[in-house]
Amino acid sequence: MNSKSILDLFFFKEKEKGNRPVITTGAIVWGTLLRSFILMVVAFFAVKKYMLYDHIYLIIFIIWLFVAMPAYNAYKNFDKEMEEFQDSTLCGTCVHFEKSAQLCKIFDEHPTKEYIPCEGQSWEPKSYEDTI
Ligand code: SF4
Repeated sequence: MNSKSILDLFFFKEKEKGNRPVITTGAIVWGTLLRSFILMVVAFFAVKKYMLYDHIYLIIFIIWLFVAMPAYNAYKNFDKEMEEFQDSTLCGTCVHFEKSAQLCKIFDEHPTKEYIPCEGQSWEPKSYEDTI
């Protein structure tokens, strides 16, 4: 993993083969863990150096501001994007598409609006029960 990938994860993104940017729930979870780790390390040294033992609530507020809220917003955007993706792409209507990971379960790849891993060859419609 290079520094650019870590920076992508910090912003809740990951890049697939061919540098295609994809946002997945996994990237959001990794981004949340990465931000939490960085914040914990910084908080550990800041609390020790500036004797902030009586201001722990500040750390909770900072975690909410820089970790929880951005992660929640990233998830909301991802969910909204997936709704649009399902309505506007072939993969979105396919039984092999996993919405929570933006993943084609057969090819184990992330389809996008421009990229359909099977090029339509393996498409199978969702059943009525899958769509409700
Ligand atoms: S099988 Fe084809 S159409 Fe279905 S999700 Fe995978 S790539 Fe998309």
